[in-house]
Formats: sequence, C-alpha cells, structure tokens
Amino acid sequence: MSYTPRELRTTYEPGKEYLHFVLAYEPRIGAVGSAMNADVTIERPGPCTREWAGGLVRCDPNALHTTLVDPRRIPDLFHPCVDDDKDSPAAVAGSGCGCFRTWYDPHFGLPVVAEHYRTADGGRTDRWTYSTYAPLELRAGDTFASLVLNDGGNFWIRTADGVLTLLPQEHQGGYGTGYGGTGPGRLARYITGLLASDGRQTNAGGYQADADPRIAAWVASRAADARQELTLRDLQRIAQD
Ligand SMILES: [Zn+2]
Repeated sequence: MSYTPRELRTTYEPGKEYLHFVLAYEPRIGAVGSAMNADVTIERPGPCTREWAGGLVRCDPNALHTTLVDPRRIPDLFHPCVDDDKDSPAAVAGSGCGCFRTWYDPHFGLPVVAEHYRTADGGRTDRWTYSTYAPLELRAGDTFASLVLNDGGNFWIRTADGVLTLLPQEHQGGYGTGYGGTGPGRLARYITGLLASDGRQTNAGGYQADADPRIAAWVASRAADARQELTLRDLQRIAQD
C-alpha cells in the first residue's frame, strides 16, 4: 500500500533541534530482515563477490539498508564518498574515507551496504566491506546449477539462468567446511537435500533428515576447504565415493 501524507505527523520542533523522520520502503521485489534472514559480511571479496557486485543496482539508502549498520551510523549512510566530495563528513584528513554506499540486488530485492575504509596515508589501505542478507531460498522458477564453496570465505549458489546469489541461509545458520562442527553439518544437510530433490530443495533449513554420511565426511575434510564450484553431477559423484 502506498504511503499517504495523513499517516505521518512530523514532529519537528525548532526548540529541540532535532527532527524525527521516517524512512519509507515499499517492497517491490521483497522485504527481508534479520529476524529470519542471515546477515552476511563479506570482508574478502572473491570472484563471486566481484561478479555479484557488478550486477547490483545503486540506489539511495532506504529503510532496509539501515538494518545493516549500527544504529548510531545510520546518518553516515547519506554522506558522499571523499572521491565525490572532499568536504564530506565521511572524509578523513582530506583523502581518507569512511563512507557507505548502498545498492539492491535486482533478482532477490536484498539490500546491500558497503563500507569504505581508506586510510589518509595516500590510500595504502583502501577496501570495501559488503553487508547484505542471504535469501532463504531460490525464487520460484529458478533452477539450481551449481554451488560455490569458500569464495573468499563465503558460499554461493548459481541458477541455470546464471544468477549468482549467496547460498540460502537462515538467521544464525552459517556454513563451514574442513572440520566436524555445526557449520559443516548444516552444509552437508543442505547438499544432501539438494541431491535428494534433484536440485529442487533450495530453502535454508528445509531438509531436516540426517546428512548423507559420505557428503558429511567430505564436507568435514580438508578437500572441501578449497574454493570450488560444484554442479549437481559433481555433488552426486562425491556422494558415490
Ligand atoms: Zn568513500
């Protein structure tokens, strides 16, 4: 439903020197939040991050972006990069920067925030750290094509149409490889669910039965630690070994 002005009473009072405001978001593709979706921080962008970031759509900060930053830093979402304005409140000593940039993922509607960290020593350290939510499942009509493990420490999924997205993940439901813990156990269950459904079961936490023991052993081994992209066929082969 669209916003109409009568729903909102502004509370600006000049004597109090502050203004309450509302950031509105009208979900067109989808709405997500940290109650259900896992928030994911990408500090070491791998090839998948670069491919995915190249398809994001730049936009103004909206209410979903504010959920990805510390509440005290919400105003900083609106400050320009030092590259665009050397007098930006995000600028540090003239050439350093601590700005934010905001996008949305056009396929899943997920908000994406990147935090810029550039030191004022000629930019010797200059990096962007991405924060976003993982989807809970692929979209209706999507077909699983491949699973990417350990791309800069993150897990991705590719559809037959070439859409790349973070592996569906529930809140506090992270994945891992190379040891016998909860994260690898969750990944082994996810892969077992994919195999049992011929790639149709893509929702996070949807497969409740035990993981295939051969898949579980492989995910917990060092062999799973490398960055690798695996099709359903590759996964079937692992389950047959
Ligand atoms: Zn910047």
